[in-house]
Amino acid sequence: MARIFSGIQPSGELHIGNYLGAVRNWVQLQQAHPGAIFCIVDYHALTGNYDPAVLRQRRHEMAVSLLAAGIDPARATLYAQSTVPEHTELAWIFNTITPLGELERQTQYKDKSSRQESVVVGLLTYPVLQAADILLYLADTVPVGEDQVQHLELSREVARKWNARFAPEDAPFFPEPKPLLTPTRRIMGLDGQAKMSKSMGNTIGLLEEGDAIWAKLRPAVTDPARVRKTDPGTPEVCNIYHLHKAFSPPPVVAEVAEKCSTAAWGCIECKKVLHEHMEAELVPIRRRAAELREAPELITAALDAGTETCRTIARATMGRVKEAMGLT
Ligand code: SF4
Repeated sequence: MARIFSGIQPSGELHIGNYLGAVRNWVQLQQAHPGAIFCIVDYHALTGNYDPAVLRQRRHEMAVSLLAAGIDPARATLYAQSTVPEHTELAWIFNTITPLGELERQTQYKDKSSRQESVVVGLLTYPVLQAADILLYLADTVPVGEDQVQHLELSREVARKWNARFAPEDAPFFPEPKPLLTPTRRIMGLDGQAKMSKSMGNTIGLLEEGDAIWAKLRPAVTDPARVRKTDPGTPEVCNIYHLHKAFSPPPVVAEVAEKCSTAAWGCIECKKVLHEHMEAELVPIRRRAAELREAPELITAALDAGTETCRTIARATMGRVKEAMGLT
């Protein structure tokens, strides 16, 4: 059976872009793949300026969101990356076999470094730590969005290089992890311009109250061709339609397409229907989050158990790696 690993930055409360683009898929995957490992990648959050107290809070909020969204510690392993020191140990080892040129070619590195005056090494070696995150657990399947496929290719190359140098030819130790592309397409922000992201201020929080969500949905950008209510629209160009596809049942999605293209509905009506279907899914998640906030010991217990499970696997991997590399 595939061993699944995926990580998420501790950005605080999830927004619905993270939820639809990753976490909802994780919740489904844990059913078919008990033992899937989901990691709050707090070491990856250190490459920019940050406030330690805020990071601590965001890590906690991310754990609340993930558990409330349905990650089940009885089926999956949830933990924070920095509680398993073998991540950075293996990353160092991979640093010694990863070509510098490969790292400099990574699109995300080029994007981010071009916007910074002084670039820290961690920004360059981020994908090496990512390779260590995955390969530490010998994971062969990584649910990712399209923007992470290039990094995953680097993980495959690191696995190949290590195997070629230190494993018998007929018995490679590290698997070459494959991407499992998330079924939901990239969720755009409420401005309809850019991917939903906290830094763009165009998000809906997964745990926001219904009124607050409506206050954001109401003015959200739709098909610009619908200037008047009588102007027919093209659903495919409208972000609200794509949110319907994510939250509303198929007959409702078909009705939206029909009523948009014939101008039978105005955008406000369409958004009200979307809001109803979002609430049907989000209200129970908010309820679970409120319960977890009342019982923080449940969060600590889930994360501690995850750390314990992961350290056992990680120690075994590092034992084999060190043995093969002459470090024992
Ligand atoms: Fe978008 Fe709905 Fe308006 Fe059509 S009717 S443009 S799908 S909000």
